[in-house]
Amino acid sequence: MKTLIPRISRKRTTSLPTPEIEGLLARVQREARATSTDAAPAAWMRTAARACHAELADRLHESQQADRISGAKRVHYLSMEFLMGRALANALSALELEDAFAQAAEQAGLRAADVLEREPDAALGNGGLGRLAACFLDSMATLGVPAFGYGLRYRYGMFAQRIQDGRQVEAPDDWLRLGDAWELPRPELRFAVGFGGHVVGDGGLARRWVPAQTVQAQAVDFIVPGHGTRRVAVLRQWQAAAQQPIDYLAFSRGEHVAAAREKLEAESLNWVLYPDDSTPAGRELRLKQEFFLVSASLQDMLARHLEEHRTLDNLGAHACVHLNDTHPALAVPELMRLLVDEHGLGWEQAWAQTQQVVSYTNHTLMPEALETWPVRMLEQLLPRHLEIVYEINSRFLAQVRARFPGDEALVRRVSLVDEQGEQRVRMAALSIVASHHVNGVSALHSDLMVQTIFADYARIWPERFCNVTNGVTPRRWLAQANPSLAAVLDERLGGPGWRTDLGRLAQLAPLAGDADLQAAVRAAKRANKQRLATLVRRELGLVIDPDSLFDVQVKRIHEYKRQLLNLLHVVARYQAILAQPQADWVPRTVVMAGKAASAYVAAKDIIRLAHDIARVVNSDPRVGERLKLVFLPNYGVSLAETIIPAADLSEQISTAGTEASGTGNMKFALNGALTIGTWDGANIEMAQAVGREDFFIFGLQAEQVTQLRELGYDPRLHYEESRVLRRVIDAIAQGDFSPGEPGRYRALVDALLQRDSYLLLADFHSYLEAQAAVDEAFRDRAGWDAKAIRNIAGMGWFSSDRTICEYARTIWQLPT
Ligand SMILES: *Cc1c(COP(=O)(O)O)cnc(C)c1O
Repeated sequence: MKTLIPRISRKRTTSLPTPEIEGLLARVQREARATSTDAAPAAWMRTAARACHAELADRLHESQQADRISGAKRVHYLSMEFLMGRALANALSALELEDAFAQAAEQAGLRAADVLEREPDAALGNGGLGRLAACFLDSMATLGVPAFGYGLRYRYGMFAQRIQDGRQVEAPDDWLRLGDAWELPRPELRFAVGFGGHVVGDGGLARRWVPAQTVQAQAVDFIVPGHGTRRVAVLRQWQAAAQQPIDYLAFSRGEHVAAAREKLEAESLNWVLYPDDSTPAGRELRLKQEFFLVSASLQDMLARHLEEHRTLDNLGAHACVHLNDTHPALAVPELMRLLVDEHGLGWEQAWAQTQQVVSYTNHTLMPEALETWPVRMLEQLLPRHLEIVYEINSRFLAQVRARFPGDEALVRRVSLVDEQGEQRVRMAALSIVASHHVNGVSALHSDLMVQTIFADYARIWPERFCNVTNGVTPRRWLAQANPSLAAVLDERLGGPGWRTDLGRLAQLAPLAGDADLQAAVRAAKRANKQRLATLVRRELGLVIDPDSLFDVQVKRIHEYKRQLLNLLHVVARYQAILAQPQADWVPRTVVMAGKAASAYVAAKDIIRLAHDIARVVNSDPRVGERLKLVFLPNYGVSLAETIIPAADLSEQISTAGTEASGTGNMKFALNGALTIGTWDGANIEMAQAVGREDFFIFGLQAEQVTQLRELGYDPRLHYEESRVLRRVIDAIAQGDFSPGEPGRYRALVDALLQRDSYLLLADFHSYLEAQAAVDEAFRDRAGWDAKAIRNIAGMGWFSSDRTICEYARTIWQLPT
């Protein structure tokens, strides 16, 4: 142990001076030495985290100091979700300490991987939207964009998924139980956030809100390191606390529970992240959470601006507020309230600043997913904000009437208030009216956005709408998740530079036929498949063959993502194998994972069906190694990091026109999986970048989907026409996979045959043909490897670094 430091080899140049590295490692060793061997990996994890954190805190101080001095324009990225995952491996990589850490662990008799695995995931998001925010923070830090992510410090985050008897059971995810070594509490940053009450003032535009209840928002920072730079970004998460920790009088009377009521009520704001399909009971609390986030974040932003500039007249020149979907849309009336009521700006001046500051990203076209809040609820919870929304609306509608005289239907459609039935405020409308830019997240999505849900607004402000296609960070999704492939790239691309310049991957394309490269890429894939097979065996006791084709669909379970279509293919393949056991089948392992929102019955049925099918198929001796179905519980960032590098085939099979972008699709292709997918979201741009010959595209396109629905779609026709489809559906309907309860999937089958809202049956045959083409391609190993290499080579553009550069230039208009 004593000889540790001199034996550290450093392959890459490090941006840390040597004595500091030694200091960090010495600290890890000193503190970890004191613990017993059983607890050693966890102790190492915490100590290493604290050591990295100390260094990152210095860098945070430096970055913020530099931004203060230069008066930098800052991005404030407001999001209800940040799906960060684990932080230690990323921090070690950013500090260029991976090798040194691995060696130090080894000398202590530990495997670095075992240490890293002890860290719980920070799962403060549902899926793609939250993970996008996390990738963006990584890229903003790496590119040196002055940025604050603002979110809530959820105590339990997204639920942990367990599977009992094939069914999803939700459990609280106590991710902070070990204490979080990464948190940097900021006791000096505290703001009051009100709820309820009433508004006082004369008839003027500036009025005063007297809330009935006030909670304190307390900042807790999480530092996001940049790679290849000393710059960092910060994720500032708000923790709610009661004004008075306990009610002393009640306590003295012996009413202990009552004494803590206010404390509990405040803290409940931080308990959980509501899934997007939330229950009504949770809705009021969700609205409070949204307001709590925006109010605290904007107060923090204004306080910083005033400290640096002494005036709010130039706010728009120095601050961007970006809304990640409409969840933080209350930022609009809250910023207006702060500027007008609290800081004394005139309405016009405040509105001009607000419009210069705010921009908004839309993430879904599905009308039912567009957020609205009942006027009645806002009136009770945020009376002043409702007044402000009305004022914004009346000015906006006056403009519309002036430009489109007599078109009252248009006025009704674009109004911030939906007057049909119970009055509701449309959060997307509020966001659009206040934003200087509104973007979609893939070319198709942005086109459809202005053609469908936002067509009226695009008519009023065509220049306001734009596209910025999503991306993913290559640090986490390639360098960290797939060290085997990363090593191949380091060798072939002349070093580690691709990590921050992903366009260099294009250099691989001309080498796709190179036998040595093919062998190296294949060996890396084989190692990753072996790693996943080991995990599957440990988690599920199931043996899978790493030489079979790994066919993977991992993402939230949702009808539009069509995990059920995947299952229909599994059943069809199962039946075909039984019918022709002698045929030369390409062995397949179908891997699925994903959580269903707790109130989403149809999605939960799909999880159960997957388990029922898996039980039958996996135990059928006639099938053997030719087909296996695996559902891995508790999908999250860390599981994704193990699964995605092991995939041969990536399933991106949403109904065309429903997946805004997808980012899972990008992670897979970047790791050398081939995609079977619909002409949807970012799949389209990926296929164009990679080459359509190396993509398995199937199914109806978005326009055809629209046409079919307009003509009147009858799923029964497909059922009656296709013998294969009939056999598959009948098997499920008769209970072949649920013999103890034959009617278990009655509702699911009825929905398919009567409505089939996502056109599974219409796309079924095309999907089966594409799957057959996949089998054929996989038989030709060299051909497959060449395709995999061309997929990797084509993914350079899908780095979130490119995405952030586009936001910085076109939306945030940061100096370059
Ligand atoms: C990337 C990612 C997603 C998004 O996946 P899609 O396939 O684009 O829906 C969801 N969850 C996790 C954990 C991810 O890493």
